[in-house]
Amino acid sequence: MINRLPTHPASSGLKVYLWGLAVLTISCTVILAGLSTRSWYVELKQSRIHADVIADFARYLETGTRISAERGPANSYMAAPDGARADYRTDWEAAVAETDALLDYIRPDVPPDLIEKVYDQLAIARQLVAMAGERPRLSRRYEDIQAAIDAMFKVHDHFEAVLRWRMAVALETEPDLIDVLFKGMILADLREQAGRLGSFVIPPLVTGEPIRSRHVIESQQVRGRLLATWMLMEPLAASLDPDSELGQLLDRTRQDFFINGLALRDQQLGLDATQTRPVIDAITFTRAYVASMRPLQQLRAGLMEDIRLTYLRKEQAAWSGMVQSMALMLTIVLLVAGLVLAMQHYIFNPLLDASRAIIALAFDQPPLPTRPRRHVAEIRLVHSALAIVADKLTERRRMTEELHLLATTDGLTGLLNRRTIDDIGHRLAEGTRSSDVPHLILADIDHFKAINDCFGHPVGDDVLREIGTVLRRTLRSQDHVARYGGEEFAVLLVGQTKAQAACVARKLRKAIKALELESPDGYAIRLTASFGIAGGADADWETIVRRADQALYAAKEAGRDRIRFG
Ligand code: GH3
Ligand code: MG
Ligand code: MG
Repeated sequence: MINRLPTHPASSGLKVYLWGLAVLTISCTVILAGLSTRSWYVELKQSRIHADVIADFARYLETGTRISAERGPANSYMAAPDGARADYRTDWEAAVAETDALLDYIRPDVPPDLIEKVYDQLAIARQLVAMAGERPRLSRRYEDIQAAIDAMFKVHDHFEAVLRWRMAVALETEPDLIDVLFKGMILADLREQAGRLGSFVIPPLVTGEPIRSRHVIESQQVRGRLLATWMLMEPLAASLDPDSELGQLLDRTRQDFFINGLALRDQQLGLDATQTRPVIDAITFTRAYVASMRPLQQLRAGLMEDIRLTYLRKEQAAWSGMVQSMALMLTIVLLVAGLVLAMQHYIFNPLLDASRAIIALAFDQPPLPTRPRRHVAEIRLVHSALAIVADKLTERRRMTEELHLLATTDGLTGLLNRRTIDDIGHRLAEGTRSSDVPHLILADIDHFKAINDCFGHPVGDDVLREIGTVLRRTLRSQDHVARYGGEEFAVLLVGQTKAQAACVARKLRKAIKALELESPDGYAIRLTASFGIAGGADADWETIVRRADQALYAAKEAGRDRIRFG
């Protein structure tokens, strides 16, 4: 009989496919999320770089504007009345310090040949301003003031080379930024040209001399360039919402500078239609003119900051896009893994358990301990069906055992029946092992018919049961005992000698004889039995039975209640 259970391969069928599918899904999700995260990351990095480049370029433009703006206090200083010269010098020096702070900041990043020219020219220009400013008010000369102003113009010319270099460097890696950098550059240039235009007014206003005709032409050129450059800003004007902060700044630039500022400047030079001569002094003019340029300056800074903030917002959006795609990936991975684990826990493992249980049932093995699980309904059905099968099989096994018992035992006494002891006897007699040598004792109750006749058949049956009990009690557990016929019993001894068999027979005879029974109506029933013994290694079972029977017959013949050997 095979009683080894077939084993399941560790991972089988659907489970493998499911895990394969899960791994595939997870891999695809990871790849897709990876690609999306990567593109968000690229966008994030790009936006950050753009924002940084714009911030950096804005600092350069601010530095340029500082250089332009330093001319305001310089002009005032050169126009200052003798009594207030020190105050205006202090203002100018403050402006100088501001310019230097910004220039020093960018200095390490700029090629030395470019930045040193700015510094050198700045030193020359400031010296000229100081020289002009230190003179008494009335001895200041038109040419000296103009020379200082020209020298300041030149500083900005040198700085423009720095700006062009910075723009070229930025565009090399970030060509997308050309539009914004270009707009910044134009607005910064507008501020410079606007400032220059105003500066032409200073020498005539300080000295009271008319403007030199060469400067009239020069200033008209600047004016032309200024207006032409302003035209370049038209697309910007069209793109701005007039109600936005930048739109309003643009409006104020038009109004404050291009209408009021230019008119003021033309008026001071007597270039306006009314041909009015100067009506205000250089300092008042400078203050008003510088104020008129402020929206232009703010427009440049605001525009750059606005675009920088746009990129920072893009960076923020890219960051949250990245986080979202990672979170989505994580959710899908967890869901798929959870689904597969749940299927494994709630479906595959219970199915495998069920299949093991079926095999165990088929091989009559005890049912395997089942792990307590909250199964899904379908799996519960399978397990209920299994429980029914197990119950039915147990019932059938019990019935088979009962049948087997019926087939092998005697219904009255519970001893073995004749067929069973014959089977055992046959097997032993055919065997060759000396330890299996059989001896058969046949015992027949003497005059049993009389018991039936005297007390009735049921009492006879009871007596037979009592005899069965006595035999069983007297024999060892390994000895076989059967009811061989009506009131005839057979004892099969295994591995015993003839003498030992005789000894057993004697014990049995005595035990039966000693039995004190009483009939229902109170009569004592005494019994004796006759015994025939046969056995040994050389005979087959039929021969042993025949000889034991003959010996029994001989015992009867000899007067009963005795033992004979066959
Ligand atoms: P002896 O063996 O000493 O020659 O006499 P005996 O009376 O025992 O012999 P016999 O073979 O003539 O009778 C056997 C009797 O046993 C006959 C039958 O009525 C009785 N008998 C056989 N089987 C049963 C049984 O199952 N129950 C009862 N009560 N009696 C049985
Ligand atoms: Mg008898
Ligand atoms: Mg008999």
